[in-house]
Amino acid sequence: MRVFHISAEMTPFAKVGGLADVLLGLNRAFLNRIQSRVILPHYGAIDMDLLVSADEEESFTTVLNGKECRARVSYYRLYRDLMVGLLDTEERYWGSRSDIYGGDDEIESFLFFCRAVVDWLQTREAPDLLHLHDWQTSLVPFLLQKEKISIPTLLTIHNLSYQGLCQWHDLQKISVTPDSVRDPSLFQDPHRDCLNLMKVGILSADRLTTVSPTYAVEVKTAEYGHGLDGVLRSVSEKFQGILNGLDDAYWNPAIDPLLVTNYSLIDGMKKIRLAKERHKESILSELDLPILSDPLVVAVTRLVSQKGIDLLYDLFSHAKELGIQVLLLGGGANAEDRSRFSELDQVLRQEKRGAIFLQSDEMVAHRLFAAADIFVVPSLFEPCGLTQLIALMYGAIPIVRRTGGLADTIVDLSSQKDSNGFVFDDPLPEAFRDAVKRARSCFFQLETWEALMVRGMQQDLSWKRSADQYLMLYQRICSE
Ligand code: ADP
Repeated sequence: MRVFHISAEMTPFAKVGGLADVLLGLNRAFLNRIQSRVILPHYGAIDMDLLVSADEEESFTTVLNGKECRARVSYYRLYRDLMVGLLDTEERYWGSRSDIYGGDDEIESFLFFCRAVVDWLQTREAPDLLHLHDWQTSLVPFLLQKEKISIPTLLTIHNLSYQGLCQWHDLQKISVTPDSVRDPSLFQDPHRDCLNLMKVGILSADRLTTVSPTYAVEVKTAEYGHGLDGVLRSVSEKFQGILNGLDDAYWNPAIDPLLVTNYSLIDGMKKIRLAKERHKESILSELDLPILSDPLVVAVTRLVSQKGIDLLYDLFSHAKELGIQVLLLGGGANAEDRSRFSELDQVLRQEKRGAIFLQSDEMVAHRLFAAADIFVVPSLFEPCGLTQLIALMYGAIPIVRRTGGLADTIVDLSSQKDSNGFVFDDPLPEAFRDAVKRARSCFFQLETWEALMVRGMQQDLSWKRSADQYLMLYQRICSE
């Protein structure tokens, strides 16, 4: 079976968040099982040192803004055997983009990408299935139908809060106008005066998945549906949740090249503790902070409201009172949040309680997972969430809010069986702080704490099981 993934991100060369990790992990899990390739725009920001040319190229003609232009998909190898196709025009339309998202032309960029992908597919042997990811690629099934190209499609929703809202003048740029489509209402957002690309994808793709079973249920409710709950309810029969895995070659403290000391369960708890202590020391001493006997509480996140950043702000403000040390790595914050978290950083450093890095940094992220005693994910909603899984692998105990994939992966200590962390329900500062207090007191009960660490590190969080589920679904779609 040949499957092409069409995506805006892939770890490690074009990453913003979890979507990128999914593309790497899932495709690595497919190796030797099916032939899969990932196609992305050839952004200027891509770190080409991570890719090796496969000396393979496919040229085609596409139309952008009513103007014909030559384009090509150039293939590269990632980690020797993963095939990645980077798409760009000869004039390097995407090459001039340094950021993957943002900017006034974000919608245009991904509409052009969808258009170009469909034009490219018409010039080559079709794959057995196209796997599309999020709104950035969700117009592809519609465009295929419009061009009467029959390739089965699966759309995965990684985060329903991003929907690709736009207007007809945007779509006009790829020659899609109200007159040229059979049913213009397909594009209409259900509640707002605009068009909605995610909605078009949901209704046009042959099948639909999202990244955890609980999120698949939640998004069909008004509370979590971001206005598309009715649309999702209407396609219930083709929609399911498949839990994300972790790429255990990339996220693995035993072999992680970004760590100063590697560690694994077979070394025994004493060595694991020593290795984690070394990471803690190396980070805290760089920051000129003391190593206290209190637990080190870490968050690695995009600093956006979805991630419960008001709860994080509250928790970090009470670090001294709660008896915890804290480190936060937060990327993508807006100006207001940058300013309040910068001020909090100053206070934390003065109190010798912790620090806040307002950036995205892969290396720092790996070091923080290794240093953390406790890892917090107080999200308001969370499609799957990967950081709580990474935390488990790295021997940090997660505290999460019971929502989406967090609810599917973390079991509270109070539960008799399979507990691996702490879970709280209400997205309220007191509830979050209570969970942290519970975790802190458990931290000092060595036996219980180490048992939690071992259980987390032992868990099979790999992509294997989820990849099996995707393969079964691929087969079903292709035989329909
Ligand atoms: P989302 O995709 O919503 O951001 P996930 O939990 O699914 O959240 O995935 C987050 C991924 O992005 C993880 O690999 C995490 O380590 C990484 N990440 C998040 N924030 C940062 C940051 N500030 N710096 C480096 N990596 C980050």
